[in-house]
Formats: sequence, structure tokens, C-alpha cells
Amino acid sequence: MFPLSNSFFLQHFKRALADPRSCSISKPEIRFHLGHLYEIQGKYVAARGEYEQIIALPATQVKSFVQANTLRQLGWIHHTVESFGDAASRSATALQFLQRSIEIDRNNGQTWYFLGRYYSSMGKVHDAFVSYRQSIDKSEASADTWCSIGVLYQEQNQPMDALQAYICAVQLDRNHEAAWRDLAILYEACQQPRDALVCYLNAKHCAQVKNEEELSPPAPTIYLESKKEAMSRALADFCTNPQNPVTVIRGLAAALKLDLGLFSTKTLVESNPQCTVEVRTQAQQPSEENWDSNGTNKVWLCESSRSYSSIAKYAQYQAMTFQESMKSTSKRKTFKTIKFGTNIDLSDEKKWKLQLQELSKLPWLFRLVSAGNMLSHVGHSILGMNTIQLYMKVPGSRTPGHQENNNYSAININIGPGDCEWFAVPEEYWGEICNLCEKHNINYLSGSWWPVLEDLYHANIPVYRFIQKPGDLVWLNAGTVHWVQAVGWCNNIAWNVGLVSPHQYQMTVERYEWNKFCGYKSIVPIVQLTWNMAQHVRITNPKLFNMMKTCMMRSLWQCQQMLDNLKKNNIDVIWHGRTDEEHSHYCETCEVELFNLLFVRRSESNLQTHLVHCLNCARNLNPDLENFVVLNQYHTDELMRIYDSFTLAKRSKT
Ligand SMILES: [Zn+2]
Repeated sequence: MFPLSNSFFLQHFKRALADPRSCSISKPEIRFHLGHLYEIQGKYVAARGEYEQIIALPATQVKSFVQANTLRQLGWIHHTVESFGDAASRSATALQFLQRSIEIDRNNGQTWYFLGRYYSSMGKVHDAFVSYRQSIDKSEASADTWCSIGVLYQEQNQPMDALQAYICAVQLDRNHEAAWRDLAILYEACQQPRDALVCYLNAKHCAQVKNEEELSPPAPTIYLESKKEAMSRALADFCTNPQNPVTVIRGLAAALKLDLGLFSTKTLVESNPQCTVEVRTQAQQPSEENWDSNGTNKVWLCESSRSYSSIAKYAQYQAMTFQESMKSTSKRKTFKTIKFGTNIDLSDEKKWKLQLQELSKLPWLFRLVSAGNMLSHVGHSILGMNTIQLYMKVPGSRTPGHQENNNYSAININIGPGDCEWFAVPEEYWGEICNLCEKHNINYLSGSWWPVLEDLYHANIPVYRFIQKPGDLVWLNAGTVHWVQAVGWCNNIAWNVGLVSPHQYQMTVERYEWNKFCGYKSIVPIVQLTWNMAQHVRITNPKLFNMMKTCMMRSLWQCQQMLDNLKKNNIDVIWHGRTDEEHSHYCETCEVELFNLLFVRRSESNLQTHLVHCLNCARNLNPDLENFVVLNQYHTDELMRIYDSFTLAKRSKT
């Protein structure tokens, strides 16, 4: 169980070493790469082990360039890794290795560069210069070398020479942050603040520019091999770590013996053929692009028309498009129109008993209902959030870009048989994506958009791009921006969870406030939820406790202010109360959550209907609140009691 990264290559090299057959690169060379990988990972002892095995071989068995490179790296790690002994003996060993490397290959610029760095740190300025000079002569001159030469000159109080060297460095590599910074410091010391400023700004720009690898990082991926791993604390910690915006979990279905066949189109048709499917009609397009309806311009707007169908009918469509794809080979000029079956509600426990039962095998973090899930404390169902939704797809079906409601985390399992392609951006870039949406005249929260990938790279926004195979569970951490396109024919199931943690709560509250500011509805009633959690959940984290207490205090204060003002104006408040499973009320006009006090009037078009408002919107309609009835749902004493008895719980010893 490890993320696919260097460790993957490590396994690869180890296997290559163990393979008795001969291959195009020699064993010592493979061993060198293995050692170098360890070195990159900071596993210096392991790296030294591999390198030493190479130089222990008879010289005739090792190609000279492998020998020279091995000696060079051995020299460098002895020079830089403090845990390899006292400074004096490390220094002697380092020099020996570097010199032996040079004896074998006098033309390696990198070795001369390391030797220069070695001499420079020993204060042997002349030797350092000679080595750097050699490095520049031997290899294509590198910006690193010129930058080091600059540092050396500066230490020798030769600012003009240092200047020349730094300029060489930035001419070779415009993105050499250290060279720009050193150049800036030099200009500053020489009383040239204008030039210094330009260089500092360049350095800052370099620090922000991400290279290709940083812009398309690999998605953190976990491979599960056993039920124990699936149920482990380590897995939950990995997923909820804010450093991992998204986690792909492979092998979960197998490890837990989940029967995903229960969600296959065949079983769905057999169990609930008449169930409603929302259908989105879209254009099938390459996943990294989005074109306008004429196919002439790349745009962000990605609208689709909505209609309704049933599982049985959509299943026929899925099967029909699959069979057609086997026949037709014609190349179309315009994009094909496709239908995406979305938001199929699986909340009915009677209709979907087997399916819901199967998902209760999941580890607690992923489970639909658990004590540690905020959304289990709302008190009622919020479709698609604390209930499961199903998606039925054909190739090209698109879920446009978004963050989950109130920044909750999300779980998505691909049932297969085809794959899905995902794009995910860390939470901290949502503001920049929001700006890009506005630039395209699209509302980030309520609009429908598909990012043109090159626009994001241009804006220096990293994107995780990965394939979700059948059986893969994708965990989206709080606030991750994402958009998804089906590669093949497949079904997906998805729902939200909200870990009871300070990070999740903070993200949720921040988005709640932002929504309020933008006049966009938060479908999770956070104030009500907070009061519920205060009564039903043991909160042991002080940060979370304080945030919740603040939220409760604010709502109490607001209620009291409104009550005082109503009393002053001789407006009666009528007791209404609240049933256990009653949904929270939202203002008819601004869609803000209403807690405790409701301002109600009869609809003018239909006198049977009552419309609920917040105080602000009610007063906008009628400053004296004529025609309004004010209802309240809690006694102030009751709220005070809950507030006072909500205390920080002691962490139980386990
Ligand atoms: Zn309102």
C-alpha cells in the first residue's frame, strides 16, 4: 500500500536487478539508478549501500562512465550528508571519491561542478575557480555553475566579476531563482535599488512558476491488498490529510468483497426499472477541451439541456450506443450528441435495500451514515449528500466543474465496465478558477463550466488528471475543485461525507458565508447542524469546539436582537416549535438559512401557500412587517441551556 511515485520505480529497478536474463543496460547501471533513486528520496544509507556494491566489483565488470558517476555521487553524499561521520573524515572521503571520479572521466562537467562546490565550502577559492572553469569547459555551461562562481566572487569582494557570473547564469536560465535573488542582493549592496527591485521581482516570479511536473502532479493512489488495510486508521488519515486533495483507492471492492454488480445496469433494470433518471443532453468532446456549439471557439461555458427518463429507458440507450459504436467507424466533423443519465436517487431504503446494505461494508470514513460524519447529524435527508446518487453514462458524459456543496468531502465509486477520466484542482486555487469563470461571464457557483486545460496551465494552476477504473473509489477532500468525463460506458455511485474535524468544519463554514455573500443557497443548514452536533456529538478538539461555540453564540445573539426589536415595535412572536425531522427553512427571496425566527406571509397568487422570509427580505417587502406573522421554533431558555451544556469533552484514552 503506497502512493505511485518513486517507490514504484524503486520496485521496478529491484525487479530488474533480480531478473537473471540479460538486458540492454548492465546490472551495475541498474544498481546505479537504484542508488540514485534512494538518494533523491533522502535514503542516503541505502544509496551508499548500492553505490559501494558497484565500486566493489572488479573494474573490468563496470563500464567506466558508470564507475565515474558512482564515485561522483559517493563523493557528493559524503560531502553533504552530516550523519555520515565527523566533518573532517567526511571531507577527506568526499575529496577522494571526487578525485577518483575525475581520474576516470576528466570530461564530466557535473563532477567538476561538485568538486568546485567542495573546494568553495573548504575556503579553497583558487581550486574552486579552477574546478568551475573546468565544469564550464567540459559540459554545456550550466546556470548552477555560473551562479556558484558568482557566489565565490562575491565572497572575494569582487562585485563586478560576481555580477558577470550571475548575468551569465540568468542568461542561460531565465527561471534561475537563486541567481536572480543573488543578483538582487548584489545590486542592493551596490546602491542600485531599481535594478535590485527588478531582480527581486524576477526571483519571486521564478518561485511561483511551476514546471510541467508541478502542474500535472500524479494523483495520490493507494493500493489495498487486504480488509485490514481497508479498515486501517492509516487509510483514513491519508485521505483526510489536507495535503492530498484527492485520493484514488484501488482494490477496495476486492479487499472488502463488495458486490458492485448490484449497481450494474442489468441489476438496476431488474430491481427498479421505473425509477426516474435526469437526462443531460451534451456534446461528446475531447476531455481537455470545450467548444462552443458551432465548434469554432474553445470556451468554458458547458451547458446541457435537461429532460427526464427512466432507468429502463436509459439502459436501452446505453446498450444501443454501445452496439452502434461497434459498427460505425465513420469520422464525424461535428461533435456527436449524447445523453448522460444523472442524479438517480437511491435514498429509498425499501427499493434499494440490497444496494444500501452492501455499502455498509465500507470503512467508517466512507460510510453513508456514521457518528463521525457531520451529515449524519443534519436530522433529515439532503438528496445526493447524505443519500446515494447513481449516474449512468456513455462515453463523453460530463460532470462540469464544481466544488461539493459547502465544501464537503465526496466519495465516488466507478461500477464499470468502462473508465472515467477525472480532473482535480487543490482547494486553494478555487478563487483563481472563480476569476477565470467570471472572465468567461459564467457564475462560478451556479453556472455550468468546463475548464479548458491550457487556460489553467497558463494561469499556473496545477491539475491532477487520472483514470478511475471499475472498482476504484475516488475520495475528494474538502473543497477540491473537480470535473469528470466518462471514457467508456459505465455507472457511478456517489455521496458526501463531512468528517467531524476542525479542517472540514472550517471549510464548510467558510463556504457557507461565501454562499450567503453571493446569494447562493447552502443546502446544508449549518447553523441548525451546529446546534444538533452540540447536543449529540462529543467534541474533543478545542479548535473545532471554539468554532462551533462561536457559531452558536452568533446565532443566539442574532435571535435575541431580533426579539428585542420586535418587542420594541409591539410585534407579537407566535410559538411554532419544531418537529424532530423538520427540514430547515430558507428565505423565499435570498435563500439564506432561517434559524428559530420565521417571517411568514400568505402568497398573493395562492392564498393557501405560505412564504417564509428572513427579517431583511421581509422588511424590504414591508418595513412595518404588516401582513407578516412572526414564528419562533425554540425557546430562548432552551437555546441557552444547550449552549451552556455544550462543553469540550475529554479525549477518551484508547
Ligand atoms: Zn432573505
